[in-house]
Amino acid sequence: MRATCVFFHAHPDDEALLTAGTMARLADEGHRVVLVVATAGERGLTAPVDGDLGTVRTAELHASARALGCARVVLLGYADSGLDGTADEGFASADVEVAAEELAGLLRQEDADLLTVYDPAGGYGHPDHVQVHRVGVRAAELAGTSVVLEATVDRDLLLRVLRPLGRLVRALDVRSFERAYASRDEITHRVRVGAHAEAKRASMAAHATQATGGDSVRTLAALLRLPMPLFRRALGTEYYVRRDLPPGTRLTHPLDAHPLLTSPLDDHLPHLLDAHPSGPPHDRPLDAHPSHAPDDPSPSDEPPPHEPRDRPVVAGG
Ligand SMILES: [Zn+2]
Repeated sequence: MRATCVFFHAHPDDEALLTAGTMARLADEGHRVVLVVATAGERGLTAPVDGDLGTVRTAELHASARALGCARVVLLGYADSGLDGTADEGFASADVEVAAEELAGLLRQEDADLLTVYDPAGGYGHPDHVQVHRVGVRAAELAGTSVVLEATVDRDLLLRVLRPLGRLVRALDVRSFERAYASRDEITHRVRVGAHAEAKRASMAAHATQATGGDSVRTLAALLRLPMPLFRRALGTEYYVRRDLPPGTRLTHPLDAHPLLTSPLDDHLPHLLDAHPSGPPHDRPLDAHPSHAPDDPSPSDEPPPHEPRDRPVVAGG
């Protein structure tokens, strides 16, 4: 059955790094994918651009959405809070209830089955990203959206990659990541997106201002230089936490164990989940969603694509 999935992000290009593969996969499976972005990212780092940065980045966002097969793009129109998240009047300081009601209106209009937000830490902690969590969770409550997934990164995996780097690169403060994103135990969904790596790469490439200028090391630029097989390995898994499922749950599709979208195959899921409420993680994922496309068979425990450096550089956060 066709679901409507709303992906809520802070700035243009956040979707490319965190959820692009999942979005492309869902769209490819015939689901309706809606991209909602709080700000135009007008205070992001960039090389000089022709005209207003917010306008340019909005155009980049639409190009990214086309590459991913999104049915609709909505900009909530809040101001970017800037790289350190302190700009006055930014999304980070917006009234949560007001912003949540606005997003809830959209969720009701779309009759959304699923909303993605960020983990409570806001990933690495940018205030606009923390606000995405607060506003998104509240909006889902108001609209009665039954599944909320927190887009995140496996922090344990990230630290395993960063710690050796931190010994080599003095500017890299690895400790700043010890509370970032989500721990391995919290993660409930590991979504394989290797089969949609081309779309994910196209989404990243669409954000040209964030891949070209302003800073000596840019995540997008570095990732876009990876050869495709390496790109697929490094970015072939996307991570989510669903808080209403028991820790240790291991699912592989965003719509697995959806309380409303059941199918004969899904019927055994609650039973299986109950059987291991706090036991060891299953070796094999519970993967009963009927509409799975065959996906990339590469190993999932690859380093995630994230921010090995000393301050937030992802596009104004
Ligand atoms: Zn951001």
